Amino acid sequence: MSSGRTDNPAAERVAVITGGASGIGLGAARHLAAAGHPVALLDLDGDAVHRAAADLRDDGATVSAHEVDVVDRASIDTALDKVRGELGPVSVVVTSAGIEASAPFVDITAEDWERLLTVNLTGTFHSIQAAVPDMLEAAWGRIITISSMSAQSGAPDRAHYAASKGGVIALTKALAFELSPKGITVNTIPPSIIVTPMAENSVKEGTLDLGAVAGMTPVRRAGTPDDVGATCAFLCSDGAGFITGQTIGVNGGWYL
Ligand code: NAD
Repeated sequence: MSSGRTDNPAAERVAVITGGASGIGLGAARHLAAAGHPVALLDLDGDAVHRAAADLRDDGATVSAHEVDVVDRASIDTALDKVRGELGPVSVVVTSAGIEASAPFVDITAEDWERLLTVNLTGTFHSIQAAVPDMLEAAWGRIITISSMSAQSGAPDRAHYAASKGGVIALTKALAFELSPKGITVNTIPPSIIVTPMAENSVKEGTLDLGAVAGMTPVRRAGTPDDVGATCAFLCSDGAGFITGQTIGVNGGWYL
């Protein structure tokens, strides 16, 4: 792929972001694009993903956008084939597509449990496995999974969500052992509360109080998609090549 920006290695490194239409994924896309990466947004919400891509293009980014369900491997494979055709092979994957739910443990149905595990954990597996052959071929890659602080600390009424994100952390560590010798770093970011549409929805439902969050957070505020996006961009840089298998808390000091 030639982008004309050969002085910046990021210009040759296509970044795929799942859940890239909103919140943390969109924040990651903004920061990766600002670092010079061509970015590909994959998201279940077709309208939102094309709107997000148009906004990023207005800011000068090279973007491709695809409606994808990360649970459906064929839809990821189809999208990545288009990404390879439009932008080139994939060098970076950020897996931010995810859903949350809240319920006392005794009320969690088998269907709820299955849905959380399938989207958050199996979707992460599919997204990484579909992209990794390009990184193996190039002997260079960066994989960042978005897990959750709730998997580190535990969280009431979130047994299914926390378990799905604990799986993401374990998957990340296992892949770091396997892929780092081949030039691919694999890290996870387990954010605390980040103000995104997902968090705003929990505020509306009455299951989240942002004032209380600020009070419990040493930096005295909730996080932003930019806080996570900036960390993603750093982890994708050449300077972060010795960081792998790590759980990088972006949480304002809430969980130490
Ligand atoms: P968000 O709802 O703003 O964005 C999530 C995006 O994922 C949406 O655009 C949605 O359409 C997409 N998505 C959902 N299911 C999908 C599927 N099956 N296939 C493809 N795309 C799908 O939420 P967010 O807050 O940006 O969350 C992003 C990630 O960060 C999630 O995995 C979430 O669990 C995690 N996280 C969020 C917070 C927080 O406080 N916001 C904290 C910790 C972890």
